[in-house]
Amino acid sequence: MCCDGVLFHIVKLQPGDSAQALAALGLKVKRKRKQDCILQPCSAHAECSCTIYQARPVRCRVFECKQLHRVAAGAITEAAAVGKISEAKILVGEINALLLRLGATNLRQPLSKRCESVLSEFPDPPSDVATAEARSQLAAAMHALEVLLDQHFRIEPSDSAAELRDRAGQ
Ligand code: SF4
Repeated sequence: MCCDGVLFHIVKLQPGDSAQALAALGLKVKRKRKQDCILQPCSAHAECSCTIYQARPVRCRVFECKQLHRVAAGAITEAAAVGKISEAKILVGEINALLLRLGATNLRQPLSKRCESVLSEFPDPPSDVATAEARSQLAAAMHALEVLLDQHFRIEPSDSAAELRDRAGQ
């Protein structure tokens, strides 16, 4: 989820990262507010692995989510962390299924952006009951996911989800 556009929208590049080298490896490198970053979902993410692992950016090397911190500190068991990850992935699956039902097939955007686009595309109120239902389920599932990610995965819980996503990959 750190790499596929669920947790973050971008990963900011750091001293020691080469934007050119990462772009040559196929990453989507952009300059945003005078800061080089790679866009998520990451092009190097495949089947839960990083295909450029030895050459990954600095923030990818140092990032640890709350679940990892909690396991390392002995606050929770590894099984509990796996359970929390499964909970998040089930929600992500539900959201993706709803997006598909609503005709959103563009997988190049982060998950929350895809939801925002789909929800803003439809007239308010929606023209039919099924669409209205799917739309309201999507909004509720995305809200539940954001709360779960803020509470159990993203670091610095006092910051807003939008700020964290934009700061990505810490
Ligand atoms: S470079 Fe590798 S570790 Fe970093 S976001 Fe992409 S897939 Fe994940």
